[in-house]
Amino acid sequence: MPKITFSTENKVQQDNRFPKLSLEYGDRALIVAIEPEPEVEYVHTLQAPAIGPDGKVIKEERKNSKGETYVAPKMEFFGQHLCFGAFDVLTAKGSDPANCPTCAAAAEGEGIVAPKPKYAMNVLQYTLQPNSWTVRDPFNVDVVAWTFAADRFNTLIDLAAEWKDLRKHDLKLGPCQSAVFQKYDIQVANSAQWMADDARKKQAIESYDNNKCTDLSSVIGRKVDKSKALEDIQRVRERLQQAYHTPSSSAATQAFDNATSSEPETISKPAEAASTEATGESATWESVLSDL
Ligand SMILES: [Zn+2]
Repeated sequence: MPKITFSTENKVQQDNRFPKLSLEYGDRALIVAIEPEPEVEYVHTLQAPAIGPDGKVIKEERKNSKGETYVAPKMEFFGQHLCFGAFDVLTAKGSDPANCPTCAAAAEGEGIVAPKPKYAMNVLQYTLQPNSWTVRDPFNVDVVAWTFAADRFNTLIDLAAEWKDLRKHDLKLGPCQSAVFQKYDIQVANSAQWMADDARKKQAIESYDNNKCTDLSSVIGRKVDKSKALEDIQRVRERLQQAYHTPSSSAATQAFDNATSSEPETISKPAEAASTEATGESATWESVLSDL
């Protein structure tokens, strides 16, 4: 059996496992947005219809965030990665086909969609007494990454406009109405528990300093290299062709690939981890989508 040394270059690439704020149905959380602003990244989610043993698209009943039932193709998760586009282009136009192969594929309208902005920030989550908003004694906070999509970001903008500094007001989340969609209301408290006395302030700030996530973009999405993105795009196209008998070749993306393949690759990869997660857990794509 081969042996492997404990040297740095042998380190296995892994997904960022930093704890995320995630509520189960009926759960509540009391948090404080200890950072003045979140980080934002544009994220591509690649999915395509699942095919049954009979070669046909599998249909399933689904519920939207309002609880209404509808029938739609069962979607299979093919990967998720940070967009390669320039941030100012993405902000202005929502997509950057010149710099990102996935945006280029999305521009062709083949079942691949433009990236969506996704936000993340470190927050302090208080340990609560069961089924209550009362903090537990002894006082405890955990640092978790709170990720959300544009609608929740807009809600936070409104709350910040009304309450000014959100670091001085705890946020009451929940009770959670859907774990898949992370659907819950947010109420603002008049004060912040972490500022109640000097001992709590010291504990909260030390906990934040020692435990915060310093690479929030890796919590938001995976940084893959362009060859991995192109591989995922190809897999989606093959599946779409299988499902709908649409042409799978794409001159534009081929051209993009040829034009950029000689560029130095500066973005690191965890390609292996990404593909394991994509196929390893059947519910993964839903939980990924729920964050978007
Ligand atoms: Zn893109």
